[in-house]
Amino acid sequence: MRQPLVVANWKMNMTSPEASVYCQRLRTLMQETTTPAEVVVCPPYTAIEVVRAAFVGSDLAVGAQNFYPAPKGAYTGEVSISMLKALDCRYVIVGHSERRLRFGETAETIGEKVKVAVEHGITPILCVGETMSERSLGMTEKVIGQQLLTCLKHLQSDQLAQVVVAYEPLWAIGTGRSATAKDAAQLATYARQRLQRLMNGDTDAMRILYGGSVAPDNIAEFAAADGVDGVLVGGASLDPDKFQAIARAYEVK
Ligand code: PEP
Repeated sequence: MRQPLVVANWKMNMTSPEASVYCQRLRTLMQETTTPAEVVVCPPYTAIEVVRAAFVGSDLAVGAQNFYPAPKGAYTGEVSISMLKALDCRYVIVGHSERRLRFGETAETIGEKVKVAVEHGITPILCVGETMSERSLGMTEKVIGQQLLTCLKHLQSDQLAQVVVAYEPLWAIGTGRSATAKDAAQLATYARQRLQRLMNGDTDAMRILYGGSVAPDNIAEFAAADGVDGVLVGGASLDPDKFQAIARAYEVK
């Protein structure tokens, strides 16, 4: 049985004082829920320590949005995986489409990041997704399959279950237009099939999330979608009340 996972991607939002106010509110709100979901907040680097400290003694976890895959050295402006580990980051988002598109991140670099994160015991949340034109051409599965194989190629089969895959169609990110739960479920099935051989037939442990315009008013369908183990939430995660409402959708009714 895979534990549901609900992840906030704050992107470049929230100063550390704002993060502190948010976390106090989220902690209070989370006391009202019996959600079985693991709830994770990925703030900008500058607020990781504030979020970490605010979550001590709770079930909430902190993660990061990126890192650079070298151990240390002359990489001005970058942050290593050990630095994230020292801040108790349990997860790190890798290969988000905004990083691929705005910062030129390649599948090769993303694959390296996935490997380094796994080797350091931080769970990578690997984002994959197709553009609208790829979708219109009926290429969704082909594109996702290629992204998965390239980004996971450095891992041994027993390491693959330590990766979380987030299916995030690019046309659904920040647009208010989500995919359907059926799309997400189909893609999750396809991704597991695609990874079957690499994982020696056992893809049961791998968690697959959906991301793209998830909000309190559409979370129920994603929470009920077969084979979809949680969500990666951008815009709606900036409001603690909305984010808690999303986590609550996983409560056992
Ligand atoms: C994201 O950027 O990972 C994301 C899912 O954003 P949004 O929820 O705003 O679409």
